[in-house]
Amino acid sequence: MSSLGNLTVLTGPSGVGKGTIVKKILESHSEVWLSISATTRKARLGEIDGEHYYFLEKKNFQEIIDSEGFLEWATFSNNFYGTPKKIVKEKIEKGTNVLLEIELEGARQIRKSFPEALQIFLAPPNLPELEKRIRGRGTDAEEAIRDRLEIANKELMAKNEFDAVVINEDIEKAFKEIEGLMGLKI
Ligand code: 5GP
Repeated sequence: MSSLGNLTVLTGPSGVGKGTIVKKILESHSEVWLSISATTRKARLGEIDGEHYYFLEKKNFQEIIDSEGFLEWATFSNNFYGTPKKIVKEKIEKGTNVLLEIELEGARQIRKSFPEALQIFLAPPNLPELEKRIRGRGTDAEEAIRDRLEIANKELMAKNEFDAVVINEDIEKAFKEIEGLMGLKI
């Protein structure tokens, strides 16, 4: 009998560096599979449909909600984001290590449906540093930046719900810590 794959949830405020950590995990560990989420947010410059996200119209997203096609879904800064259920379940059943990079509400839903999932919260060293990073990224309009910072405050207050909190002061150190938590072979 084949054993099930692990499910890891990586959460943390927008701009904290989740994307960079995820990229490093995927580059070093071909055994890890990242779920591609669906979103109603518009693609940013350079983002590719089916690679970074499945970019959907709200109507299509709603249809997937109605047919219970999401493992979890949430709204974030006036857009919908969701994890496709079928493929993620198939991957876990085949023994693949699955990684979800999602926000707080989604992580809470996964905690209910997959209590065995490892839940990691990536935190910034402090809030001014987070603001610097979000602004430095240059991808969001002022209103979206303010919104994201407000959400960040709320998300940070929930960090103790997680199995582990990793502070992203040094990207290499944070990466190694997460590798260890996920039990990945180095
Ligand atoms: P962004 O717009 O910066 O790509 O993502 C905004 C937030 O949505 C980030 O915190 C990201 O982790 C989260 N997110 C991305 N995909 C999903 C998903 O499928 N479900 C949930 N709940 N959050 C997601």
